Amino acid sequence: MTAHRLLVVVSAPSGAGKTSLCEWVVTQLPGLAHSVSFTTRPPRPDEKDGRDYHFVDEATFRAMVDRGEFAEWAVVHGHLYGTSRALLTRYFAAGLDVILDIDTQGAAILRQGHPDGVFVFIVPPSWALLEERLRRRESDAEADIQRRLQRALEEVKHYAEYQYVIVNDVFARAAEELKAIILAERRRGSRVDLGFLHA
Ligand code: 5GP
Repeated sequence: MTAHRLLVVVSAPSGAGKTSLCEWVVTQLPGLAHSVSFTTRPPRPDEKDGRDYHFVDEATFRAMVDRGEFAEWAVVHGHLYGTSRALLTRYFAAGLDVILDIDTQGAAILRQGHPDGVFVFIVPPSWALLEERLRRRESDAEADIQRRLQRALEEVKHYAEYQYVIVNDVFARAAEELKAIILAERRRGSRVDLGFLHA
């Protein structure tokens, strides 16, 4: 049985725990890869180039935009972020499903080109917890935190554009829900190709 590859797009306000959920689910589901985006944001102390992001300067990023190398890109918190078309193609060619952790602007662009994608929105259980999680990231300055909180309010308004919404109150439960969504989507009739029937 072969299958049409799955594009899972996960969006959430900063601090909703989306990155941890995406990282966990790829360890649980063979055949699922976490796409590494390009960004002009400087790396945080614990981040590694090529693992968390491909960190590039603005000139490099803009040149990639001009060459049409991004499947989607957006300005988030004053920095540029984008998903490489070539990387997506490489994952699919290798027979992998791909999970993307991108903002609502990028998701809206991908919804046009990938109507069969699976779109998941993660929300924190409360604003207080979101703020607490953002403050725990010591690398972000106060102005950054305020900007992220403001933007979180805007981001959450888009939740109804997504097919699935997960409330990340207890990590283990939210993680199981994300895994269940991907497992179920892999079994959609429209995605499954029973090659032997056509032989
Ligand atoms: P952070 O700087 O905290 O890693 O990410 C900030 C925001 O940028 C998050 O909402 C994250 O999902 C989003 N983001 C990360 N990579 C991409 C990307 O390739 N495209 C878009 N549109 N957003 C991205």
